[in-house]
Amino acid sequence: MGLKKQVVVVGAGLSGLAAAIRMALSGARVRVFDARTGPGGKAFTERLGAWRFDTGPSLLTMVEVFEKLFEQAGRRLTDYLTPVKLDPVCHYWFADGTFFKAGAGPDGLARSMVGAGLATEREIQRFLKYSRDLYRAAGPLFLENPLGWGLLVNPTFWKSLWYLPRLDASRTMMQALRSFFKDPRAWQYFGRYATYNGSSPYRAPATLNLIPWVEMQGAYAVREGIYAIPRALEKLGRELGVEFVYQTRVERIEHHNKVISGVRIEGQDEVVYADMVICASDVHETYRLIQEPGSPWNLRYKATEPSSSGYVFYWGIEATYPEMGLNNIFFSSDYEREFREIFEERKLPTEPTIYVNIGSKVTPEDAPHGGENWFVLVNAPYHQGQDWDSEGKSLRERILDIVEKRLGRPVRSYIREEGSWSPPEIEQLTSSRGGSLYGISSNSANAAFLRHPNKHPEFKGLYVCGGSAHPGGGMPLAVLSGQISAQLAAKELR
Ligand SMILES: Cc1cc2nc3c(=O)[nH]c(=O)nc-3n(C[C@H](O)[C@H](O)[C@H](O)COP(=O)(O)OP(=O)(O)OC[C@H]3O[C@@H](n4cnc5c(N)ncnc54)[C@H](O)[C@@H]3O)c2cc1C
Repeated sequence: MGLKKQVVVVGAGLSGLAAAIRMALSGARVRVFDARTGPGGKAFTERLGAWRFDTGPSLLTMVEVFEKLFEQAGRRLTDYLTPVKLDPVCHYWFADGTFFKAGAGPDGLARSMVGAGLATEREIQRFLKYSRDLYRAAGPLFLENPLGWGLLVNPTFWKSLWYLPRLDASRTMMQALRSFFKDPRAWQYFGRYATYNGSSPYRAPATLNLIPWVEMQGAYAVREGIYAIPRALEKLGRELGVEFVYQTRVERIEHHNKVISGVRIEGQDEVVYADMVICASDVHETYRLIQEPGSPWNLRYKATEPSSSGYVFYWGIEATYPEMGLNNIFFSSDYEREFREIFEERKLPTEPTIYVNIGSKVTPEDAPHGGENWFVLVNAPYHQGQDWDSEGKSLRERILDIVEKRLGRPVRSYIREEGSWSPPEIEQLTSSRGGSLYGISSNSANAAFLRHPNKHPEFKGLYVCGGSAHPGGGMPLAVLSGQISAQLAAKELR
């Protein structure tokens, strides 16, 4: 039996963890290096006094992506964590006083929207069919396969052809929504899905109206908290022989004549040999590591627009709010202005839409008895040198004013522990460009094709995955990205 091929994965975020698992399954010796103290990347964990928080993602969709990854290793996801299917999915507070709970699945959502007067039965049924067809046209083909000519020989491509004329890429999400619904609250409700990949509904192509369909197939929390996801992936990796090295920053990817030979670790002289490197950090970090700023692929990437970032507050609250659910949205009164401020004026919104996730509704042990752990997120522009300290302070007050007014109850006076995560801090801790949450934005019709390919076209032995690579950001897509890059790398190993 020959020696095992050596693979180094840079980054133990969800994409790097998935890539490491797939490479171990194909028989390679895999080592994962991450600068942080443990796995997860953006999906990290933090404790403030008696409260625990998930730092980044909170809503899990496409759970089957995770199930399949565990199945490939002969395991069951549910032996590692407990997904909890949500119904209702989210509580919504509109500026005009409307309150509604979005039901699960196409039928549940239709019932709740019609019941709250946001849409007629006919409007919602037409939209659901449209959203489903968009997903069938674009979803399976682009999400589960590498970009490139190989798509043409993929049987899914030919099936998708039937739906391709319906991709609806020549108008924006919002233009399409206005053609389906009369009520501006329905535009706002469905427009919010653009933010699931860090884009604006006023600029992103209407193709993204497929995202509601994805969520309607199942929105989940995790009984043990979202941090159980990277922990489970890391555990599976260790069972398959993957070695994890934390608090270790890769400083350079070594190559000679465009062939990868290993990585150099910060503070160490010798090179860690590798037949292959899978870079699961943001693409801009990949180019810093290979030190090829003039690469045409780097220039192409630099010309793309980063996705939006977020300003997050973590509040350990000494009170309970039974009127709130696990997921809660407080919509702004002027959605168009909010997105103009974020994506054009590049500033924090004057009146933000506020997302509050209360993990302790599902994981009570994450807050002391009689308390709740609030994760409060506002969409923010990516970091370009704005004055976040003073902006953050006034944002905090605006958020509390809005939430207290809509709930009709105090919140401020119950905050016992407090933390925050601003765009430059997100950038610093995860190396993502400008602190973008989802890699590059989808604010143009061709954005899906501008994500970095998973096999580097110039460097032999270099693979790229994660939110800024194909197929994009968000937990399930990051996992798919890791798997696609590993699949391509395993092919080369063979
Ligand atoms: C506030 C917030 C809310 C979100 N909400 C959701 C949500 O509800 N649902 C959802 O699906 N997604 C959500 N996301 C997006 C989701 O978290 C990401 O798309 C996904 O986790 C990205 O995974 P990744 O592997 O691409 O990268 P990351 O998680 O960014 O991991 C990259 C890792 O690489 C390491 N690294 C980088 N460079 C180096 C180096 N040179 N040496 C060593 N290590 C290095 C970093 O330390 C980091 O750990 C959210 C993100 C944030 C921040």
